[in-house]
Amino acid sequence: MKPVYNFSPGPSALPKPVLEKAQKELLNYKGTGMSVMEMSHRSKVFQDIVDSAQELLSELMGIPDNYKILFLQGGATTQFSMVPLNLLRKYKKADYAITGSFAKKAAQEAERYGTVNVVASSADANFSYIPDVESMKASPDSDYFHITTNNTIYGTRFTRLPDTGSVPLVADMSSNILSEVMDVSKFGLIYAGAQKNMAPSGLTVVIIREDLLGNAMDITPTMLNYKIQADANSLYNTPTTFSIYMAKLVFEWLKDLGGVPVIEEINKEKASLLYDCIDNSNIYKGTANPKDRSIMNVTFTLPSEEMTAKFVKEAENNGLVTLKGHRSVGGIRASIYNAMPVKGVKALVAFMKEFEHNNK
Ligand SMILES: *Cc1c(COP(=O)(O)O)cnc(C)c1O
Repeated sequence: MKPVYNFSPGPSALPKPVLEKAQKELLNYKGTGMSVMEMSHRSKVFQDIVDSAQELLSELMGIPDNYKILFLQGGATTQFSMVPLNLLRKYKKADYAITGSFAKKAAQEAERYGTVNVVASSADANFSYIPDVESMKASPDSDYFHITTNNTIYGTRFTRLPDTGSVPLVADMSSNILSEVMDVSKFGLIYAGAQKNMAPSGLTVVIIREDLLGNAMDITPTMLNYKIQADANSLYNTPTTFSIYMAKLVFEWLKDLGGVPVIEEINKEKASLLYDCIDNSNIYKGTANPKDRSIMNVTFTLPSEEMTAKFVKEAENNGLVTLKGHRSVGGIRASIYNAMPVKGVKALVAFMKEFEHNNK
């Protein structure tokens, strides 16, 4: 079979060596005679998986000691409510930068529990850019400041962080966690659905500074209370055991590769191969403001709907799949997360050049 390169925005491609390892261990995990899927989440074997997943993530991201790592469920979308329920501690007010539809959804959910102050928005240009971070000022009476570090649908990312002073910076990092070096100490809380850069869907990773624990509103459901989850080390109830195991394998793979600084270089190389092709073309047009371009989701359009449909179909025949853009942007979106090899991007670029040549 010809190789298939999957450019899906999420759930997305996992590293081949990780899938092969999971396959090898599927029926008999480390001599237990059973699959990780069948194991008690209270067993010693599974506890070891949780512990090493936490240690590996901590090492990869350089997470300081005063942070807790939580393995939760409900996706990034559940964090849209969990964050305000736990963090609207004092003023019941939070700042939000609206840089995409996920950011907008996060702000809308927070409005159910407190006051939302929109510090910046790029809705005026269909979220094709990141507003100047210098102009993003935290309110003095804000409990936290929320950003979306990479905007999956629109193909933009924050290349610098706003300076929020003593107001905790909260980030939805679903689509670029572990893709580039981030200074965790700049954040009060980071959350990410795992299905883009870490594991199969089902797992949500939360990294929270300890002083932010223990202030949940009284109405907060038990399962949505960070303190309860932290005290139980993510085992308050049955966690998404297999996804945690898969995350551990992905973290091991990334560590073996040389860690985040190495994958960041590879990701930048992949992104520039695509952006160079777009910038030197007469039919492809990038949709994101060049200085805010994502290195995870590359978005561009073609001159017509017909040509776009033809592109998607012919790409698929060449083993380049899931390239259709989100309906709110149209065109094409190539999601090139950590698991996408340089080879896959080179194959896409070669196809793009050939397609342009044949469709001038
Ligand atoms: C995919 C995505 C979400 C939604 O994640 P779920 O896990 O499906 O809830 C939220 N924010 C960003 C930035 C995303 O990329």
